[in-house]
Amino acid sequence: MFEYAPAPESRDVVSIRPSYGLFIGGEFVEGGGTPFKTVNPATEETLAEISTATSDDVDRAVRAARKAFGVWSAMPGAERAKYLFRIARIIQERARELAVLESIDNGKPIRESRDVDVPLVAAHFFYYAGWADKLEYAGFGAAPRPLGVAGQVIPWNFPLLMLAWKIAPALACGNTVVLKPAETTPLTALLFAEICAQADLPPGVVNIVTGAGETGAAVVAHPDVDKVAFTGSTEVGRIIARTVAGTRKKLTLELGGKAANIVFDDAAIDQAVEGVVNGIFFNQGHVCCAGSRLLVQESVQDELLSALKRRLATLRLGDPLDKNTDIGAINSAEQLAKIRELSDLGEAEGAQRWSPPCDLPAQGFWFPPTIFTGVAQSHRIAREEIFGPVLSVLTFRTPAEAVEKANNTPYGLSAGVWTEKGSRILWMADRLRAGVVWANTFNKFDPTSPFGGYKESGYGREGGRHGLEAYLEV
Ligand code: NAD
Repeated sequence: MFEYAPAPESRDVVSIRPSYGLFIGGEFVEGGGTPFKTVNPATEETLAEISTATSDDVDRAVRAARKAFGVWSAMPGAERAKYLFRIARIIQERARELAVLESIDNGKPIRESRDVDVPLVAAHFFYYAGWADKLEYAGFGAAPRPLGVAGQVIPWNFPLLMLAWKIAPALACGNTVVLKPAETTPLTALLFAEICAQADLPPGVVNIVTGAGETGAAVVAHPDVDKVAFTGSTEVGRIIARTVAGTRKKLTLELGGKAANIVFDDAAIDQAVEGVVNGIFFNQGHVCCAGSRLLVQESVQDELLSALKRRLATLRLGDPLDKNTDIGAINSAEQLAKIRELSDLGEAEGAQRWSPPCDLPAQGFWFPPTIFTGVAQSHRIAREEIFGPVLSVLTFRTPAEAVEKANNTPYGLSAGVWTEKGSRILWMADRLRAGVVWANTFNKFDPTSPFGGYKESGYGREGGRHGLEAYLEV
């Protein structure tokens, strides 16, 4: 059969410099710490050397942000909006460059960075630009005020999108920011810094400091930061909550998840299969709200699993820049080791492991799409976030049992329900303890919708009108 095979996206659309500094006060400056390398996870090739910000550098960045706060917060909302619109337009103009760079640094398929990440990043800036001159209508009182300097720390799974979730609402409300990207994916945040300069954003409104956890800790602990926004693991979230406790700082935390994708026997099975695949294999499963537990009603278990295995056998794993690729590289050797460890443990605990035949490239970090059946609720693969392309399958008989199993986790970020019965969707949504419940779809994101967790998935909401609340004194 003829297969349409477009050429891989060219990496020549981006020019990656050999080394990068920190972006402080509108300029790139060298950091005082030992530089580190960022690596292409699909090839293990070093992409660039990146500055490490010491606590002195973080202090410089916070001082630049404080100075800029005077100008930025006093600016009429309509003026701030113009900058945000301009940033959004430049993101659209430079979309191809951003998408290719994101795929090279992160390992995600170009189809996803091009069609999901980058369009959503632009959409966030457009959406929050629209709020900048309407804050008094947001329902937070007559004259809501910005908080001041926001210290923001983000993970590697959606480097640009997490940056947009943090920076767009903060700026719209009149705050200035110091953001630290993850150490394995700093490149698109640094390109975003260039975009801020291209948009003539006043110096110091956005500052980007690179480095590992110590740099993040210095941002969080800085005494002149008014607000901390963190997305990352629950473990680090706990450390940050302890640092911030008892200070004047406001805090929002977007943490881990172990979402259930619940398929009832009356669901359209083909659609559900697509939703389950998207739920766990999108972005190699490096998704906080990934549908990493499939809860299937016993009566359709065999039918669903056969269809799911047939579908998995068609997924193409490989070069992230190939437009045909469905599953890209795992972001780092550390993450790969974690996925392997938990998967081996799943087998050791008695679950049955299955992957389609799949040739893994010799170089780079790869893990095949994997399903575990015969999983019990007590197994670690049913309880812990694997953050990789690994699905744990459990079964249920009644809706009540589905709710009980779905909620039986310390997390509560998202859930999916697949059924043709509208009344059942509402019944389930009322009882699922999760920030988002998708019905007959999964992993749908929109800047107008608040996103965030229950329980150990964190607190506060990002996105939508609720996302403004985290950056305003009302
Ligand atoms: P991580 O917690 O290891 O790191 C996140 C960021 O925190 C990185 O920039 C890291 O350098 C920094 N950091 C590490 N230690 C720190 C410290 N002591 N103080 C301050 N900063 C520190 O998480 P990760 O491995 O990068 O990301 C994966 C995790 O993120 C998963 O648990 C995932 O569920 C979660 N996540 C959540 C959401 C959400 O919206 N809820 C979205 C994306 C990812």
